[in-house]
Amino acid sequence: MALFKPENVEDFYEIEEVLGSGHFGQVRKVCERTSRTHWAGKFLKIRKTACSRLGLDRTSVEREVEILQILHHPNIVALKDVFESRSEVVLILELVSGGELFDFIAEKENLLECEAIEFLKQILEGLKFMHKNNIVHFDLKPENIMLSDKGSPHPNIKLIDFGLAHHFCQGEEYRSTSGTPQYIAPEMISNEPLSTAADMWSIGVITYILLSGLSPFQGETDEETLKNVIATNYQFNKHYFSMTSSMAKDFIMKLLIKTPNERMTAEECLVHPWIKPITRTQADKRSRSSINMRSFKKFNAKRKWKMSYNMVLMCNRLVSLRLPCKSNSNPDPLQRQCESDTEETESKPASLLRRRLSSSS
Ligand code: ATP
Repeated sequence: MALFKPENVEDFYEIEEVLGSGHFGQVRKVCERTSRTHWAGKFLKIRKTACSRLGLDRTSVEREVEILQILHHPNIVALKDVFESRSEVVLILELVSGGELFDFIAEKENLLECEAIEFLKQILEGLKFMHKNNIVHFDLKPENIMLSDKGSPHPNIKLIDFGLAHHFCQGEEYRSTSGTPQYIAPEMISNEPLSTAADMWSIGVITYILLSGLSPFQGETDEETLKNVIATNYQFNKHYFSMTSSMAKDFIMKLLIKTPNERMTAEECLVHPWIKPITRTQADKRSRSSINMRSFKKFNAKRKWKMSYNMVLMCNRLVSLRLPCKSNSNPDPLQRQCESDTEETESKPASLLRRRLSSSS
């Protein structure tokens, strides 16, 4: 277990602007006082008592730290240090300054499949490493796929947010119903034992969106989305996939399979002809096909809008929790927080509301 330093983080780092926010705290740019190097400080509120309403339990943070300590890979955010005070744990992480991959792509005029594949390859390399170490991310979605530096001609992918990740022990049966409806695998919804295949389902969803700007299972409500996932109810709408190669569709079809062990692994994905063409014809097809940029830009704009909306909603909840409010009948809204894909939070199915609460046996 990592050493959680009891010193005050501010003795070693100057705290600068906010880079992002999560359910349990903020991520801020920090500057190391001795070297003047910049890092990202993830400030996580820790629950003071077991029945406390705000914050995370310490074991959950310990799990995230333990996982990050194992994962040394160019496509996975690196952990440098951990500080702990009475109410907070601060993870000092590698600064990922290029923003989200989806935002980077949405700024482009057009993108060929072969260019999109260069990013996908890096995501798969990160996953392959993770899965080889028996670690599953369980929360792969566009918000957690970032770029090291978008100014560079070949920006590097960095996978972030290991808050829902799990390190499997030999023979362990692990179940969890945490996640985001659009990207979650069917076996998670039905509370079945999980494996690395759950991440591969999310890769199928992300690739589908990347190529078409459509979300394969998105319904009007979260319930509808989950029903579509369970039914594995999706198709390649001709209007949105007119510029897509048949190899790309084959790649997606080999991931969006209901039975987990029939899905491609990260290693198998990396040798799929769409990712690694063997013949000249295969390579040419990728260079002639492109992503549906108009639709993708629309998807991304809507996604960003929803993220801001959910953030405002979450802040309002936090404020109402801090204020004594006798009429609040909700037993523990923060503990049961989960990213919703729709603006209407009342419609979240109870089975998928929990974050960082899962079971293993
Ligand atoms: P959530 O509740 O959504 O799971 P979280 O509390 O686990 O979030 P993260 O997802 O790790 O927190 O981080 C929140 C946001 O902070 C990210 O979406 C990203 O914008 C930013 N962020 C996280 N890590 C870094 C980093 N290493 N460098 C730069 N920005 C980061």
